Amino acid sequence: MPIDPVLGWARRNLPAIVATIRRFVECESPTDSPPDVRRFLELLAATFEGEAATRFTKEGGLTAKFRPPGRRRTGQWLALGHGDTVWPVGTIRTMPYRRARGRLWGPGVLDMKSGLAFLIFAMRALVELDIPAPRDIVLLVNPDEESGSKASRATTESLAKQSDAVIVLEPGTGLDGRAKTARKGIGAYKLRVRGVASHAGVDFEKGSSAVVELARQIEVITGFTDLKRGITVNPGVVSGGTRSNVIAAEASAEIDIRVPRLADAKTLERKFRALKPFDKRCSLELSGGLNRPPMERARRGVALFRTAQKLARELGADLSESSTGGGSDGNFTAALGVPTLDGLGAVGEGAHAAHESILIDRIADRVALLARLFAVSYTS
Ligand SMILES: [Zn+2]
Repeated sequence: MPIDPVLGWARRNLPAIVATIRRFVECESPTDSPPDVRRFLELLAATFEGEAATRFTKEGGLTAKFRPPGRRRTGQWLALGHGDTVWPVGTIRTMPYRRARGRLWGPGVLDMKSGLAFLIFAMRALVELDIPAPRDIVLLVNPDEESGSKASRATTESLAKQSDAVIVLEPGTGLDGRAKTARKGIGAYKLRVRGVASHAGVDFEKGSSAVVELARQIEVITGFTDLKRGITVNPGVVSGGTRSNVIAAEASAEIDIRVPRLADAKTLERKFRALKPFDKRCSLELSGGLNRPPMERARRGVALFRTAQKLARELGADLSESSTGGGSDGNFTAALGVPTLDGLGAVGEGAHAAHESILIDRIADRVALLARLFAVSYTS
């Protein structure tokens, strides 16, 4: 069987793709340092200078509109990514970019600077091989995904509403790079308890311990977890009290929740709001809620996955499906009912960890898959 021309192109261009990934990784861009994120997005924009119409969003993200070859224009696809990483500036000194054991290593290489490089080269392949694609491709690169996408959410949602489908450039699942058709919704609650302070020796009975009250509440909250249904509730941070000889006046817990369905989030919300103090002299104050709605496995998203799977097979690669408890900006777009396929970025492991790396021999087929997917006349 002759090799697919796009795959052949991607293989020939592998050195350039790797060099681009290296430049992206070495331009550090932690979420909490907007000037560094900006510097990276400027590097990104410079990389496809003349190939796309770029614009910075008011929250500090970047959009780029690519017009692939072909005369018929019917709508657009959104390619979604983020330019920020979890790695502080200076990480590159202790965890430098390197190429070893068939992989590229470095901070942000998997999550998700390679995915951004893949998109650029997929668009270039279409242009250089003059392969027509029926839609424009709008790339949105957010600056704050790793901190919950609070500022960029509105832009993501408004661009998604104008798009026929969304491709998320986040890494695939596992070392076989499975696509993601479902992601759990994520929420965060904070429970504050106010008690009555007193001297633990002199006036023990006059006090009402916020710490003890919180401990009892945590028992209740922990019971909200329902592993069979994929609902998890984790009181991950607790604090309270001032000294061991003082009955604690204040205590609080930060609680992470993950839900596969929106209905589960509503049920949990009711349960949290119904919490009552065991000790009547204590009071509870609850804040927070769902931050990212779940990406529920939906018919049109699955249809998009099947299309991608078929194209991958033609490229000699396997693409299977997965679901995850981690969130992405795809949660927002899927919740709007826009067909969303996530995890089409790099194949590797160790996101947010010291062994973050991508497989070099899976670069070409992923670039080719993106190009082929954009060229297909997808109808939902
Ligand atoms: Zn990511």
